[in-house]
Amino acid sequence: MTDESQIPTACCETASSNKKHTSPFSQFNISSTDILDSIEKMHCPTCSRNVRYFCNKCLKLVNCPEGAIPELKLPIKLDIIKHEQERDGKSTALHAKILAPKDVEVYAWQDMPKYENVDRLLLLFPSPGAKQLSEIDPTSFDKLVVIDGTWEQANKMSKSDSPLLRMKRGT
Ligand SMILES: [Zn+2]
Repeated sequence: MTDESQIPTACCETASSNKKHTSPFSQFNISSTDILDSIEKMHCPTCSRNVRYFCNKCLKLVNCPEGAIPELKLPIKLDIIKHEQERDGKSTALHAKILAPKDVEVYAWQDMPKYENVDRLLLLFPSPGAKQLSEIDPTSFDKLVVIDGTWEQANKMSKSDSPLLRMKRGT
């Protein structure tokens, strides 16, 4: 249940620019999160780790009642390429796989797909020559790719010889 009167329509003015910024969440109908307070830790049925809400190794919900966590449908497919040394517990990219399991795939960097169609992929990563998303024709790509790691790891991944190097880049 959503009580919209409880959701602030965040809108603020920055002192420096005097431009009005609207919260990116103001258009969303966000449900109550009260259910999260009632979900206890439990051992993941697959790997036995004691976790709350989801297992960040198996990337599955754990001990969440059916329907308690919404499953999202994204407007585009998303691949997350994760540095092997990025700690799963620290990664916030993995939440995308939990919330939109049918649209998101997570790959270890060394096991990333070969991607025969790199020209149809858009790597979201700040780089020289990367265009703003608003400047990129949305029909020019079928899938977004993001890198998950520390800035140092991500920089190394983006410059190493891999399909990431051949993707067009947006920021
Ligand atoms: Zn697990």
